[in-house]
Amino acid sequence: MTGEDELVQHFITRSNWLRAAVLGANDGILSVASVVIGVAAASTEREPIILAAVASLVAGALSMAAGEYVSVSSQTDIEKADIERERIELEEIPEIELSELAKIYVRRGLTEETAMEVAVQLTAHDALGAHVRDELGINEISQANPLQAALASGGAFLVGGALPVIIALFIAVDEMEVYQYATAILALVLLGGISAKTGGASPLKAILRITFWGTIAMGLTAIVGYYFGISVG
Ligand SMILES: [Zn+2]
Repeated sequence: MTGEDELVQHFITRSNWLRAAVLGANDGILSVASVVIGVAAASTEREPIILAAVASLVAGALSMAAGEYVSVSSQTDIEKADIERERIELEEIPEIELSELAKIYVRRGLTEETAMEVAVQLTAHDALGAHVRDELGINEISQANPLQAALASGGAFLVGGALPVIIALFIAVDEMEVYQYATAILALVLLGGISAKTGGASPLKAILRITFWGTIAMGLTAIVGYYFGISVG
């Protein structure tokens, strides 16, 4: 692998991690702020608001980490089973596998002759590696580590969700909804803009999208909290 390939690989891996971290933080901000706004709309006391903030922060981070661990583990299991099946097929039916590989290169635009030559050479060099990469489409970048992914997304949720918890601790209860909404939207816009810019996408589109859906989520929970508050008040 050339220095440039390594740079590209680092960039893709880094941007994958950044995107996962930003998504986790977004979830933390939005779900904790929404819960806090809902409870603040129903309550005039600080204790239940802080309780809801901390409970949703911890529950959200744990479920995010557990969900990520389970989904990445099952993806890893599937990939491992595919690779094992491929290894057995290469042992049992090497000729068929070779022509299958050549067909993949023909579909990618090589002549049949060149495709077969490439398939023969890559098979001689590392048959399983060639099939895993070109037939199964599995590469180092897609092989995430479940525990790392779980810690990253749970940790990102905690960092994002800490913001509404801090606001819940210090802002006056009668201004809680407004401050929660304003600080959450500000943080979401910042994160949305950074991750779009890093990924080379349009920051404006990302900002409008997150502001719209953030407003919907927090607005609806405020309405539910408000009606819940007056019905039990
Ligand atoms: Zn194969």
